[in-house]
Amino acid sequence: MKILFATSNPGKLREAQAILTKVELVLTSDYKVEMPEETGSTFEENARLKSEAGFTQTGIPTLAEDSGLVVEALDGRPGIYSARYAGGPEANNIRVLKEMEGVANRRAKFVCVASYTDQNGTRTFTGELKGEIATTPKGSNGFGYDPIFIFDGEKTTAEITPEEKDGISHRGKALKAFQDWFISQASGEPTPR
Ligand code: IMP
Repeated sequence: MKILFATSNPGKLREAQAILTKVELVLTSDYKVEMPEETGSTFEENARLKSEAGFTQTGIPTLAEDSGLVVEALDGRPGIYSARYAGGPEANNIRVLKEMEGVANRRAKFVCVASYTDQNGTRTFTGELKGEIATTPKGSNGFGYDPIFIFDGEKTTAEITPEEKDGISHRGKALKAFQDWFISQASGEPTPR
C-alpha cells in the first residue's frame, strides 16, 4: 500500500526511505499538496497539521513528521522553531553555540513526532535521542543540528554514517514505531484519534 510522505526536507526524506523498508512511500512533490503553516505549539500539533493536510488534499494515507532540537538550558529552544531559529542550518548552529557559551548544563535531545492520517483518523508516534550540545561543530554527515549534537558523550551525529544514525535517531524510533503499528494493525479497526 502506498503512503504519501509529506516533507520538503531532503534529509528527512532520505532517512524515512531508509527506515521505512516495508511500506512504499510516495512524495508530495508528485502531487499537488499545499503544506499548511506550522501554526501548532507542539511537535505533535505540527505533525498532525501536515499529515491531515496531505490526506485531505489527496485522499492518500499520509505520513508526516515534525522534529527538532530541545535544549534544556535554553528552556526547550529552539524546539518547534528548529528549522527557522536563525534563518538556515549554519546560522542556526552558530546561534545555539553562542547561546550556550559558558553554560555548564549542555543536556539536549532531538525529538520527532510522526503522524499518520487515513480515513480512520490520525495516530502519532514519538521518538527521542538524548545527548549534549558540543562547544564547536564536528563532522559533515547528516543535516541541521547534527554537527553540534553529541549523542554518545564523544561523537556528534554528523560524525557517524547515515545507517548508524538511522539505528539510534529520534526519527528512526518514531518511524519504526509507526511501521510496526502499521504492519500489525488489524484491518478495519478504527484508528484512535
Ligand atoms: P521541521 O521541518 O519543522 O520538522 O524542522 C525540523 C528541523 O529540526 C530541521 O530543519 C533541523 O533544523 C532540526 N532537526 C530535526 N531532526 C534533525 C536531525 O536528525 N538532525 C539535525 N537536525 C534536526
